Amino acid sequence: MNEKLKPPVISAIIAMLEAVRLVVLGRDQDRAESPGGLSLAETVDREFPFPLAYCFRSMQAELTYSRKWLKALELYEVIIKYVSFVLLSALKQQKDQTPVGVTGLRRPSVGHWHAACFGLLSAAKDSSGEIFVRRYLEALDRKLIRRGRDASERLLPLRNDTKGHGFIEEEARYQALYEANLCYIQTLMEFVAPLASYTLIKVGEGLRRRRGVSLFPAKILMGSHPIFPVKLHETQEEVDTDCLLYDAESEKYLSLHPWLVIDVCGECHREVVFLYDKLEPDYVVLREYPTNHTQRRDDASELVRSYLRV
Ligand SMILES: [Zn+2]
Repeated sequence: MNEKLKPPVISAIIAMLEAVRLVVLGRDQDRAESPGGLSLAETVDREFPFPLAYCFRSMQAELTYSRKWLKALELYEVIIKYVSFVLLSALKQQKDQTPVGVTGLRRPSVGHWHAACFGLLSAAKDSSGEIFVRRYLEALDRKLIRRGRDASERLLPLRNDTKGHGFIEEEARYQALYEANLCYIQTLMEFVAPLASYTLIKVGEGLRRRRGVSLFPAKILMGSHPIFPVKLHETQEEVDTDCLLYDAESEKYLSLHPWLVIDVCGECHREVVFLYDKLEPDYVVLREYPTNHTQRRDDASELVRSYLRV
């Protein structure tokens, strides 16, 4: 092909093939940039950060109500954890310190995540000065925060029940639970939706920094497809090399290390996003949702300890 076609033609063909690939993946930019007409479900599936979108998709894909309900509760946990991690990181970046009252995240229950999520939100709302998630905070009015907190309080005891014993019910009972509580999941989706305007990325191999400019391929961890498109980023910032949030409006980055880590899962045999789960004396446990596969990290425990002040 190289001998017969001129370079611009080859480039055009490659661009066309890439466009087709993105359409097939449901990842084409035109649709992503014009969300008008998309249902919340379609928006979540295509445009939410991968851990949330993936959990949502796997809930939808389940055929039995018992499994749908379990996945709905996994999704609930991922939402409040994701918001907590972003706020923890944003507050840390802003003031180089963690707000008090997060020591419970050492070995957190769902109740701790609920408390952390809404406590950090208040702290971020009250903080003065520039903060990375300003647009998210502006989008959350008092009413939406109250609705989000109420929804989380409704789901919290139900989540605890599934983690305890005796959660064996008939399928019809699960259907009733799922249908009665889906509105709370939907409210929490609306609550987290403005955070989806920040792109979750992972700095790929080959980061170069020259004359004050960082150049790197970024894996775009958005939408529910576990095949991540790559985009070249150029910035004057010195970026961390793990999971970052990117704000296209301000062209700034927020490191989510050590809370979110992308790695190959020993059980899935592909790259997935792990979320911080708990701190043990010598290591950190990370968890993948909704599979609940876990991974140990020895290198993150000091950092988690300093964040949580424990
Ligand atoms: Zn896995």
